[in-house]
Amino acid sequence: MSAPYRGRFAPSPTGPLHFGSLVGALASYLDARAHGGTWLVRIEDIDGPRTVPGADERILTTLERFGMHPDEPPVWQSGRTALYQDAFERLEAAGVVYPCGCTRKEIADSLANAHARHTTLAYPGTCRQGLSGKPARAWRVRVPDGADAIVTFSDRWQGPRTQNLATEVGDFVLKRADGHWAYQLAVVVDDADQGITDAVRGADLIDSTARQIYLQRCLGLPTPAYLHVPVVVDAHGEKLSKQTGAAELDASRPLPALQAAARHLGLAATAVASSVTLETFYAEATAAWSARFSRCGR
Ligand code: GLU
Repeated sequence: MSAPYRGRFAPSPTGPLHFGSLVGALASYLDARAHGGTWLVRIEDIDGPRTVPGADERILTTLERFGMHPDEPPVWQSGRTALYQDAFERLEAAGVVYPCGCTRKEIADSLANAHARHTTLAYPGTCRQGLSGKPARAWRVRVPDGADAIVTFSDRWQGPRTQNLATEVGDFVLKRADGHWAYQLAVVVDDADQGITDAVRGADLIDSTARQIYLQRCLGLPTPAYLHVPVVVDAHGEKLSKQTGAAELDASRPLPALQAAARHLGLAATAVASSVTLETFYAEATAAWSARFSRCGR
């Protein structure tokens, strides 16, 4: 018997909820409901410079107004840094962490050279053998070479995926030059600590998944199932985000936005489109999601 379903929506509080983030929230919420599971909200506010004060509370209020109520109290990553430190020390003890003294410019230059030579676009591992007198800036995890670098997983929406960590990513950052914990480490620690069985999120994060699976293996943590939903793009084909001018959702009229988000997720059933209360919307949308995505044998 597999563990009881636990899912999460993990917004970065860089601005209010917009249509693109609503799609991610709705997908994770419906997947949890379709499996009779638990749905959590985790505020990913460890990226100090990008965090907008008050955005977390606005996101939580909007979710409530839209009828998505978390089953447990939300958690904030900024209150959990001791867990990230602990995982970092375990990776250090395992001998897979090293300090890196490269500046962004040095890395960009070496990638540009590599690109000109049509070789790898991954971090070239400059500091693997030592800092050569440079001060430590960031801390990286060493990825394996050869066949061990290939990570394969099956995404519940996108199908089978493979990434070669050595040639496509390179040794990646766990602790940034500005002292902040990297998203990749924090998300792996939190998903495991919160017992997440299914991570449902936007497809812009699918390229991070192999890194996360690798860290889970290094730390002896379970790998959740992943489902990456298509991202919402604007008229120029760019991902909808605060940076591309996405509008804040109108919390006084949740239903039309929810119906549009359901349509984006391919839940076009008439009953979803014509529901007139949040209760009927969620009942119909959950049934429609269930018909497409329910995992047998849980
Ligand atoms: N905090 C990330 C974001 O808002 C999502 C992380 C995740 O779902 O794994 O893009």
